[in-house]
Amino acid sequence: MANIKGTVTVNIKRCKGCDLCVTACAAKVLELHPREVNNKGYHFVYMKTPENCIGCANCGMVCPDGCLTVYRKKSD
Ligand code: SF4
Ligand code: SF4
Repeated sequence: MANIKGTVTVNIKRCKGCDLCVTACAAKVLELHPREVNNKGYHFVYMKTPENCIGCANCGMVCPDGCLTVYRKKSD
């Protein structure tokens, strides 16, 4: 059985740390970085548990700034 897996790339410079994508992800993949900030001083999003991503793209749809790009791939 092939599973659909996903991965997300974050435009770190554009992310404003609004947390919408973190809330939108039912698989709890995303987290605001606890320490690092971008050049605007925002805690940006990163994949805390990338192995849990199913590529549903909810995060990408809710981001008001288009920071997230979702890729889907089959894995078996
Ligand atoms: S694609 Fe879906 S599962 Fe993956 S991080 Fe985004 S909301 Fe979460
Ligand atoms: S929704 Fe967009 S701007 Fe907000 S934390 Fe997520 S990636 Fe950053």
